[in-house]
Amino acid sequence: MVKYLDLKRVNAQYESEINEAVNRVLDSGWYLLGNENKAFEEEYASYIGTEHAIACANGLDALTLILRAYIELGVMAPGDEVIVPANTYIASILAITENGLVPVLVEPDPDTLQIDPSRIEEAVTPLTKAIMIVHLYGRCAYTRKIGDIARRKNLLLIEDNAQAHGCRYTGLSDSRGADEECVGKRTGSLGDAAGHSFYPGKNLGALGDGGCVTTSDKHLADTIRALANYGSEKKYIFGYRGRNSRLDELHAATLRTKLPHLDSDNGLRRKIATRYFNEISNPFVTLPPQTPEEENVYHIFPIFSDYRDRLQQHLAEKGIQTLIHYPVPPHRQKCYSEWRELDLPITERIHATELSLPLFPAMTSEEINLVIEAVNSFSPEKNVSECDR
Ligand SMILES: *Cc1c(COP(=O)(O)O)cnc(C)c1O
Repeated sequence: MVKYLDLKRVNAQYESEINEAVNRVLDSGWYLLGNENKAFEEEYASYIGTEHAIACANGLDALTLILRAYIELGVMAPGDEVIVPANTYIASILAITENGLVPVLVEPDPDTLQIDPSRIEEAVTPLTKAIMIVHLYGRCAYTRKIGDIARRKNLLLIEDNAQAHGCRYTGLSDSRGADEECVGKRTGSLGDAAGHSFYPGKNLGALGDGGCVTTSDKHLADTIRALANYGSEKKYIFGYRGRNSRLDELHAATLRTKLPHLDSDNGLRRKIATRYFNEISNPFVTLPPQTPEEENVYHIFPIFSDYRDRLQQHLAEKGIQTLIHYPVPPHRQKCYSEWRELDLPITERIHATELSLPLFPAMTSEEINLVIEAVNSFSPEKNVSECDR
């Protein structure tokens, strides 16, 4: 049996360090907004390459707080539009509508699976205030063209970095040539502000929920910090109608022990991905587009097949757990019924054919072999009877 993600094994690698961190918090007698938060924020900002990091309760809150802060600062107002990839996880879009802003869904480029830069410009209207790029599956979505449009149209660039901690923009695959100013920078430092999630299954995962905003804009950082703390900049004085969104000291301490291992964990993910690229070969399966090494941290390894459901069943019979990211696109969800008439064929095709293979740092080479053999042995004809009965 190969699990899609064996979190127990992932965290067991750091068990003694995590125990030490948990004991440190217990002994400190201080459980919220203390030294662990402060130290984690400094260490994470320095890792990402921004001046500020503001820890919060989860990734959805991080994105929601960014947009809320821009509204409080008068940079945006409810009714304004935010461009976002149509094939993202629902949280990116929830953060927009939660603030009374209007998501404008833009199709991905089938060659990258990321928001299509050439479709962004035509989606810009006088109401557009921001582009939210999402580094989906762990791949850098930033391109020179996106940076150019944001600058030229005076739009904010917000990153959803929930799936791509540690990823960098290299410019090597940029069809317009590299954006020299951004070459080598990590995702989360490429735009005006970024939301990060430390959900347990993300590349940098806590033992529960966690999130963070990174930015080099001090004014924005101060506003977000206040909004996440009931709207208070000074104890018992409330400048905003804020919320409570904090990262527990326990999670901050755990994240601090895991952060120094993130790059090597991502290196292990890349090794597994390389094996999949080199060894999976099946005419009924399409592999994801390859990228320069540093531009992908393989949060998800998506493969595509017209026979996706049969393939998933075949893998299950061989003991391989897989997931679909995601079965139903946002514009087909009940909660966004106003988008029922939208025609987004590229997004729909991705959702109809995508299957995610197991990929996590603690995977053994035997497990990787099993996944490769199982995918290679798939044939839709063989599985017809079981699936179509
Ligand atoms: C996980 C995820 C989020 C939300 O993060 P949570 O911590 O679960 O709230 C947002 N965007 C994307 C792309 C994600 O994958």
